[in-house]
Amino acid sequence: MIRQAVLEYDHADDALDRLDDLIDDRRAHVLHGHNGYGVVCAVYPDIVDYPATAFGGECTDAEVERLKAFDADVLIAIGGGKLVDTAKLVAYQRSVPLIVIPTLASNCAAFTPLSVVYQEDGSYDRYDMFRVVIERVIVDSRVMRRSPYEYFRAGVIDTVAKFYEARYLSGDSSIDAGVNTGLALAEQCGRLVELDLSEHAFKSYSDDVRFAIDHVLAIGGAVGGFGDAGTRVAVGHAVHNALSRFDSTHTFLHGDKVGFGLIVQERLRHSADAPYLEAWLKRFGAPTTLETLGIGPDDIPILVDSVMVETELQQLPAPLNKDFLKIIFESLQLCVYN
Ligand SMILES: [Zn+2]
Repeated sequence: MIRQAVLEYDHADDALDRLDDLIDDRRAHVLHGHNGYGVVCAVYPDIVDYPATAFGGECTDAEVERLKAFDADVLIAIGGGKLVDTAKLVAYQRSVPLIVIPTLASNCAAFTPLSVVYQEDGSYDRYDMFRVVIERVIVDSRVMRRSPYEYFRAGVIDTVAKFYEARYLSGDSSIDAGVNTGLALAEQCGRLVELDLSEHAFKSYSDDVRFAIDHVLAIGGAVGGFGDAGTRVAVGHAVHNALSRFDSTHTFLHGDKVGFGLIVQERLRHSADAPYLEAWLKRFGAPTTLETLGIGPDDIPILVDSVMVETELQQLPAPLNKDFLKIIFESLQLCVYN
């Protein structure tokens, strides 16, 4: 099935200035996070005129229930991925349209009709898919360029992952129109590795950075929207989930762990791109050894078992070779060259 959630996407140097016209004479309510909200207020001071509720920080059923108590015709979400995921559930359950103002260039939450829901203790619970109407995603370069570079960097890796994982699942083309479109968009996401996305380029908001932000926020989300199960996550994200069980990896961003997972995935499939991908990740400042992630040789059997469990839930084209997976992890333990 093809699913899209967003009616309009506006990425411009003055995108926020059109918010009032969009709201028109409707009653609006704001849900905002903590980081980034101050930047939005500085760029667009009128935002504080709308009634607002602060987000608690996690997308849980209890938080959705708490945030549902507002009286308005349209909801405005200002923040990062977790806040957007929560706001989508709130808007869906209250049957009101949503406007999203991302404050981080790190995820495609504004473009996907689903939310990742966590349990009260912070562990992963499930993801919900639903029909939510996102009227507009407002990406204002004045906000984006003041967001942390690290999040953008990790977001780019997570977007490049769309290419490698979609190709792992569905190859280079498909007779299914949705999957084929997803693959074409994913290929475009893979080309981000060719751009200058350094911190200097980010601060100057170069054309390459603007192009990459559109892929992180919008095109990357559309990959799964078109391709559905044929272009979703594969081994890269399974390795990410397995790594996340180790406390030492909690200080690393999602995209950094996914990047390491991609190295494992591409080695598993004997891809000619593996060394190229690895060199790019290293240049981009992402971890490429288990040692960097704080995982020792003794942890490898646990890691292998976790990946096997994770991938059992996925519809991979073929089962993983457990012995080969272990050999790959062992070879990625330490940096033997460089
Ligand atoms: Zn991801």
